[in-house]
Amino acid sequence: MQPFHIAIDGPAGSGKSSISKELAVKLNCIHIDTGAMYRAVTAIALRNQTPLDDVNSYQFLESSKFVYKKESIYVNDENLTEVIRDKTISQHVSLVSSIKYVRETLVKVQQDIAKDYDVVMDGRDIGSVVLPHAQVKIFLTAQIEERAKRRIHEMGLDIPLRQMIEDIQTRDFKDSTRAISPLTKASDAIIIDTTYLTKKEVIELIMTEINKRK
Ligand code: C5P
Repeated sequence: MQPFHIAIDGPAGSGKSSISKELAVKLNCIHIDTGAMYRAVTAIALRNQTPLDDVNSYQFLESSKFVYKKESIYVNDENLTEVIRDKTISQHVSLVSSIKYVRETLVKVQQDIAKDYDVVMDGRDIGSVVLPHAQVKIFLTAQIEERAKRRIHEMGLDIPLRQMIEDIQTRDFKDSTRAISPLTKASDAIIIDTTYLTKKEVIELIMTEINKRK
């Protein structure tokens, strides 16, 4: 039987990961947070102290094995789950994810995982590039203030709201304007504005779409 794929895209702080995680539990399938993979590549490149804008800095990808399991990211068995949430990673990840070789490599990893399994996969280019034939495509969005508040809360940060708004705006701008696979809504994706919705309500809306297509 054809695996069932659910693609969830959207800007930073739109609730993609937490909603995808709950959906996957509900559907008893795998959740893949592709942002965690780009963050992991960024963490390794920063640790190697090689220039982030040089494609040669990413040769390590040739011998890297990515595993995303139980909301944790492993590269060659090293658990990078904590490290990737550091502010430095958020500041550099958009540059790293704009590199063609990095994208090609990770898209392949993501497609390989989805090949034989039902998945809920979240990111920026899932409905448009990684899983263009996904049975359900959702584009989550929310007003910037709400997204910034959620990020501060999720990460337990003690920073002014204005600063988080600026950080998110900068990252969204870079992610939406890059040349390769920018953050985009697939033409057949359903937009859900989550600003005034609870997580439960968003999940119910997505479940309705899933049930229509199952
Ligand atoms: O989802 P998260 O905010 O953790 O993603 C971190 C970064 O990874 C994004 O800002 C973006 O630069 C990159 N990303 C991407 N394509 C994806 C997922 C994430 O370029 N599919």
